[in-house]
Amino acid sequence: MTSAGVDTMSTSSINPMAMSLRTAYQPMPVMPSIFSGKLAGRTVTVSESGPLGLQPGEIILTFDDGPRAGITESILDTLDQYGVKATFLMLGSAAERYPSLVREVAARGHTIGTHTYNHVDLSNLSNQEAVAEIYAGQQAVAAALAPDDLAPSRFFRFPYLAQNGVIRTSAVESRFIVLDVDIDSKDYFAETPQQVLDRTLARLDEQGAGVVLFHDIHLRTAAVLPEFLKTLRERGYQVVALRSSGGGVFDGPVITADASSVDPEV
Ligand SMILES: [Zn+2]
Repeated sequence: MTSAGVDTMSTSSINPMAMSLRTAYQPMPVMPSIFSGKLAGRTVTVSESGPLGLQPGEIILTFDDGPRAGITESILDTLDQYGVKATFLMLGSAAERYPSLVREVAARGHTIGTHTYNHVDLSNLSNQEAVAEIYAGQQAVAAALAPDDLAPSRFFRFPYLAQNGVIRTSAVESRFIVLDVDIDSKDYFAETPQQVLDRTLARLDEQGAGVVLFHDIHLRTAAVLPEFLKTLRERGYQVVALRSSGGGVFDGPVITADASSVDPEV
């Protein structure tokens, strides 16, 4: 197995199929001159849940369930290589385990949202329990970012995309911006990176734009990302950076259906 060969300055040097995972985890130099920035699109700032107003060819990269040591770093390096920004929907439990990785994601310019504390199916909980779980996730990620005087964005994604109208309404009323999914890579299937790549590109080409779901907890996701981004660029897609406006979630009250507040210390 050859090294990553970044000195060759060619995109073929980052073929994930030819890279050992150990090589993939090594920090790589930023190479802004190679990638002209064509792949990096505009920044979309949203203030509420709902359509993101993407144009044809515009995609948003999202990574759920992390951070995970040994994988998130590789994904960050690949995103830097291609000069694009993503949104990471983090679990509170993972943020508590890897707080420095949470800060690293933020330091490298990506947007951080949350995904509950413990990845539970919220549709199986009472509304108040569900809001508490969402809030606990946000609280844990906020705690990880606090040393850098940063806070998570207002983006939230439902685990398993499982929700109901009452819980979604409560999340929205609690100032979260619910982030839905247009293209599911299904990178959690026990398949080869090539299978994940082919399926994701096919669905993206069908839809022409949208929010793409990956997970920064799987080796195959780290392996597939360079080829995915390379192909996006070849096909003329643009990766849009996503930001939330209107301050943080904790600037407002947490509202449940019975109008009781959730104690932030819980
Ligand atoms: Zn998830």
